[in-house]
Amino acid sequence: MNSPMKNKTYEEIYGSREAKEQRRVRSETRKKLWQSPAYREKQSIARKGRNTWNKGLTKETDERLLKAGKKISKTKKGMMAWIRGRTYEEAYGVKKAMQIKQKIRKLRLGTSLSEETRRKIGAAESGEKHHNWRGGKSFEVYGIDWTPELREQIRKRDNYTCQMLDCGAVQTGRKFPVHHSDYNKRNSDPLNLITLCLPCHTKTEFNRNYWENYFENLKRRNECVYSVGQ
Ligand SMILES: [Zn+2]
Repeated sequence: MNSPMKNKTYEEIYGSREAKEQRRVRSETRKKLWQSPAYREKQSIARKGRNTWNKGLTKETDERLLKAGKKISKTKKGMMAWIRGRTYEEAYGVKKAMQIKQKIRKLRLGTSLSEETRRKIGAAESGEKHHNWRGGKSFEVYGIDWTPELREQIRKRDNYTCQMLDCGAVQTGRKFPVHHSDYNKRNSDPLNLITLCLPCHTKTEFNRNYWENYFENLKRRNECVYSVGQ
């Protein structure tokens, strides 16, 4: 192909006004061509199996590729130096920065949920609307029937008196702790619950097996007393 038009722009060949017209005509012609299914089919077949110019070539073996690579990395380096130390807002302006951030956020989330949807999910899953919400005590292991009312019932049953046999302390100021005899905080059966003074309750934190046995015997002795409201 050694036509005189090779490597010349339309401007060089036709002059600027005519070049514009030539471009328009060419663009129109192509558009029309691509509208024809037969033409598209033909193009598609022709393109299949055709190699791109750089297929199989590497920077090491092809000068053009080496040049192209250098050009890109130089531009990239310049970009990075320019952006470094700046916020996206400073580098791109507020509007563009917002778009970039949104894009990054989407990529990180790995999802394309809309802001609205995510806001809804967030509201539904947080705080009081969450199905696991236990009045801010979801981290505790107590059963849901472990209420202040139940504890008061137990204290009353025990005459506001520490149930440790050799203690007998009576509640005067601060409310006495109610203890789970079997150490299972989800077992709120009154038979499993017992009033202790604070020092005695602290004792039960150690030698658990001993105390579990101790309260088991106590329970057997006082079963009729410890069963409340049943
Ligand atoms: Zn006590």
